[in-house]
Amino acid sequence: MADDSIAVVDLDRCQPDRCNYECANFCPPNRTGSECIVTREERYGEDESEGGYDGGPKQISISEEICLGETCGICVEKCPFDAIEIINLPQELDDTPVHRYGENAFALYGLPAPREGRVTGILGPNGIGKTTAVRILAGEIAPNLGEWGDPAGWEAVMDEYRGTEIQSYLEALQDDAVTVARKPQYVDRIPDRFDGNTRELLENTDERGVLDELVERLSIGPVMDQPIDSISGGELQRVALAATLARDADFYFLDEVTPYLDIGQRMTAARLIGELVGDDRSMLVVEHDLAILDLLADSLHVAYGEPGAYGVITDPKSVKNGINEYLSGYLDNENMRIRPNAIEFEEHAPRSTKGGDTLVEYPDLAKSYGDGEFSLTVEGGTIYENEVLGVVGPNGIGKSTFAELLTGELAPDEGELDARLSVAYKPQYIQLDQPMRVDSYLSSITTDFGTSYWNTEIAQPLQLGRVMEQNLTDLSGGERQRVAIAACLSEDADLYVLDEPSAHIDVEQRVQAISAIRRYTENHDATALVIDHDTYMIDLLADRLLVFDGEPAESGHASPPVGMREGMNRFLSDLDVTFRRDERVGRPRINKPGSQLDREQKREGEYYYT
Ligand code: ADP
Ligand code: ADP
Ligand code: SF4
Repeated sequence: MADDSIAVVDLDRCQPDRCNYECANFCPPNRTGSECIVTREERYGEDESEGGYDGGPKQISISEEICLGETCGICVEKCPFDAIEIINLPQELDDTPVHRYGENAFALYGLPAPREGRVTGILGPNGIGKTTAVRILAGEIAPNLGEWGDPAGWEAVMDEYRGTEIQSYLEALQDDAVTVARKPQYVDRIPDRFDGNTRELLENTDERGVLDELVERLSIGPVMDQPIDSISGGELQRVALAATLARDADFYFLDEVTPYLDIGQRMTAARLIGELVGDDRSMLVVEHDLAILDLLADSLHVAYGEPGAYGVITDPKSVKNGINEYLSGYLDNENMRIRPNAIEFEEHAPRSTKGGDTLVEYPDLAKSYGDGEFSLTVEGGTIYENEVLGVVGPNGIGKSTFAELLTGELAPDEGELDARLSVAYKPQYIQLDQPMRVDSYLSSITTDFGTSYWNTEIAQPLQLGRVMEQNLTDLSGGERQRVAIAACLSEDADLYVLDEPSAHIDVEQRVQAISAIRRYTENHDATALVIDHDTYMIDLLADRLLVFDGEPAESGHASPPVGMREGMNRFLSDLDVTFRRDERVGRPRINKPGSQLDREQKREGEYYYT
């Protein structure tokens, strides 16, 4: 067969006791007597380990030698559980994978090359093999070059990479000359594995004697004596970062640093990382906030492919080109289209003077919690019909409180809101705990469910296809987020309030969610209010800005909504951060603090649109 294609079977989905092997019954080679699709037991006999797989004996094995490839794809259609993918690999690809987890399992092509003394970034969706690549570089997985039954061994791997930076890195790793420190992606899982307070967790990590400084700069002090299972996501993220950066390692791997952090905290994390790399310390960073990745990394690898099936890590690119190519949807050197459409920014604060009909005018509002532990004041303002209002400000400043005042979930202490306004609300902390399938849940919200219009506008961009049959309670963080965004947009409302839609979703899903929200509001003359810390998300979505300032966890204040230019200037001057524009695609890029542009822009008071 086409040796440029692979067959991937999702063993969590393959349920032979419930399907009568429709795939095998209809497979054309099978029908002419070939053993293209057989059970794993039939292929390998009793000793399944030879097949290098960990599925059940009755689950299927597809012979990639015999399979006719993607143009056939009959089994893909026949499988009632969407367990099979047959994929023609891009012709440009070197056909030896670096690693394959087993027969019909995920295949990784290419490895990132950590450059000594530098920060190397990886940009790409989840499920594409970034963690697999890093586990190889960390010495946790021995790459098998796709020979899962009979691993090729390190010598063969080195041969494959002879003469490259990766070869020298892997050689050092083999000689035990590399020490690795790693921050996991899902910090929420740390409390499951650690029972104690923050101080105890950090105690054993201080190999460089820098913990006090890290605790100070990451503002961890207030939670040092709190149990790990009682601190917030943003606090856990900063504790995990401190724990990793305090180690004395040659190679640091950070799998996402920004989740739960506000922009100020993201900048602090970026600065700490920048200060640590040097001479003999290098860093590999996976990050979905493009503005921060741009600031952090010295070079970057783009990862593309088919999440869950195969992933390709490209050769290194300059950060600027890598991000530009990614956004444009086309990788130049690889000659590879990764998305049909390009993502484009507007260079000048464009939609600032929108001012259409008024959707709602809200008066001055006040709300405090407890005995005034936290108090919020909101200056009255207007939200126009058919605009997207971006909401920015640090964590703990009252943004979610304001959203809940608008939805009527909270009553203000002072001021009154028009109760006739119907609001669809996606809260920051998503509660989808009904014992119900995703499709039943979404169809209970809208009668448009399943129409071709709803599929194109909502289900496809939010990649809901493969989660429809899952139970709400079984969804991962990113899946919950996408279902919750879909549920919010599917409601019939005057105002759509989305609190942190970028949380838990990868860069590609953000790009798709942005187009879905934008398109939906445009096509429905709908009005949206979007709270987020991802600058690109706010830039691409918002027509105007609502800026919050104050003292986090003590008092917050919101000014009336203003145009993008004024709003960005106000918000970024508080943070002391300026952006320039990429000259080719107009994408905003954070200036290095103290650089000539940074100083000039601050002097002129232009923090964002120059
Ligand atoms: P990323 O870091 O880009 O999200 P990963 O490297 O974690 O991607 O995973 C890539 C793919 O490899 C996923 O589809 C995952 O299910 C699969 N995978 C990861 N670990 C294993 C394993 N031990 N056995 C089989 N498949 C695995
Ligand atoms: P943001 O959305 O800007 O992060 P929030 O509106 O969630 O801010 O919270 C503002 C402050 O109010 C925080 O210090 C938070 O701990 C506190 N807070 C939020 N909800 C409650 C509540 N129900 N009771 C007491 N304090 C609360
Ligand atoms: Fe058989 Fe391959 Fe066709 Fe599937 S895609 S039915 S395995 S030939």
